[in-house]
Amino acid sequence: MRRILVWFRSDLRIHDHEALATAVRKADEVIPCYCFDPRQFARTGYGFPKTGAFRTQFLVESVENLAAQIRRRGGKLLIAVGHPEEVIPRLAAEHRAEAVYAHKEATDEEVRVEDALEKQLWRQRIPIDYFWGHTLYHADDLPFPLKNLPEIFTDFRKQTERYVQVRAEFPAPEKIRVPALLPDTPVPSVNDFGLPRPVPDERAVLTFVGGETEGLERLKYYLWETDLLRHYKETRNGLLGGDFSSKLAPWLATGCVSPRRIYQEVKRYERERVKNDSTYWLVFELLWRDYFRFVARKHGNALFKAGGIRNAAVQESQLFGSETFERWRNGQTGVPFVDANMVELRQTGFMSNRGRQNVASFLVKDLKADWRAGAAWFESQLLDYDPCSNYGNWNYVAGVGNDPREDRYFNVVKQAHQYDPAGEYVKHWLPALSRIPAPHVHTPYLLPPDELAGYGVRLGEDYSRPLVRLEPRKNEQMSK
Ligand SMILES: Cc1cc2nc3c(=O)[nH]c(=O)nc-3n(C[C@H](O)[C@H](O)[C@H](O)COP(=O)(O)OP(=O)(O)OC[C@H]3O[C@@H](n4cnc5c(N)ncnc54)[C@H](O)[C@@H]3O)c2cc1C
Repeated sequence: MRRILVWFRSDLRIHDHEALATAVRKADEVIPCYCFDPRQFARTGYGFPKTGAFRTQFLVESVENLAAQIRRRGGKLLIAVGHPEEVIPRLAAEHRAEAVYAHKEATDEEVRVEDALEKQLWRQRIPIDYFWGHTLYHADDLPFPLKNLPEIFTDFRKQTERYVQVRAEFPAPEKIRVPALLPDTPVPSVNDFGLPRPVPDERAVLTFVGGETEGLERLKYYLWETDLLRHYKETRNGLLGGDFSSKLAPWLATGCVSPRRIYQEVKRYERERVKNDSTYWLVFELLWRDYFRFVARKHGNALFKAGGIRNAAVQESQLFGSETFERWRNGQTGVPFVDANMVELRQTGFMSNRGRQNVASFLVKDLKADWRAGAAWFESQLLDYDPCSNYGNWNYVAGVGNDPREDRYFNVVKQAHQYDPAGEYVKHWLPALSRIPAPHVHTPYLLPPDELAGYGVRLGEDYSRPLVRLEPRKNEQMSK
């Protein structure tokens, strides 16, 4: 009787899951297992939880859905809380698994767990096989060795688009046979991690529910039910509502939806509906996601250091835990476009790409804070947190990453006028500013106090005084 333990990580799905598909094919019985690692729920050095309530809830829902999917196919998911490098070898021994299968991760914390696990399993004479399953392009298909990965995205994209084919999906197993005596193991709740259950905010772009079922529904909605994909390139910089971009990121980050599934669906959409710049652009964005994962593999721990993957000389900033950082984190900088985005993040776990670029640039370039504090806050709050995409993008914005342009600067006020000309987004999240006319709502601090009072706003009372008095300027370099 051959048994293989499948360790689920950020791959909480049964479609296109090479480790599961291979185990089901090779073994008589599989032992599917998910392990909540308490280190991921500890407090960071900045004083807030490493995984906040929204993301924890999404993760819990995703694991619940995975358990249901496995049950529907006759199996059972073992759920544990503990250090995977201790839990997995114990379960493997207990259930007499001959091998462990899992997907490979790319970043430091995850790789350290893999190393410790491998060591322990080796002592028990149990082999572990890793599969590559997070990206659109398989790591083995890249047309260059990882050490020669281009430092500029466009070079990566051009070479891969030319030489690499996206591999076919692994079909979801129809049946998952597990040992008869697997115990029932409950999924912990958000409260079990010392966090309050997050309170939904009706202003949120979407009600995000974790799990493969919901992720695939969202894909169906965005492509087939609403045809939103047709206009993605024109709408993707939007700020308000559920439809401007795909919102697939949280399901991609937890692995509830495979990027190859999205790709295949886009190709089918191109055949059956329309092929245009927008359909290409969704795949283009997935290539950014791929790129940051390969960058993380190439550069290892440098991604998390102040000097980033460029090993740039940076001044260690003193702003950790300072009042300035707290005001940025809580949406109280006095610059409405920044504050609205930060409030949205705190209240919902989501922020648009346009918002992220602006608040990150503002923290680093205008407040001169250490980008790592901002990245840690994003890590805590974002539903779609992914170590490669988050730290890769922060490196990029902070000028210590893959940006070919030197010293890119976002003028947040200019961006606000461009992407929120009527001030609707800012007023949505900062109702105190709702009576200020559109041209002035992005710079209330430039209005005379009397006029501002006429709109019901006194700085320092109804709305924060500005940390910096930004004005629209012309000399900014725009982003991609
Ligand atoms: C400072 C900063 C931090 C970020 N942190 C994360 C993160 O932790 N996790 C994350 O998934 N994205 C991150 N992004 C990228 C991007 O903002 C989100 O992927 C996007 O806003 C998610 O919304 P969506 O799914 O509707 O995206 P869409 O516009 O619909 O894009 C489709 C998919 O492409 C991928 N994608 C799009 N843009 C990027 C990008 N710049 N980098 C990497 N992948 C991209 C995502 O998987 C996304 O779901 C970050 C961007 C910035 C500037």
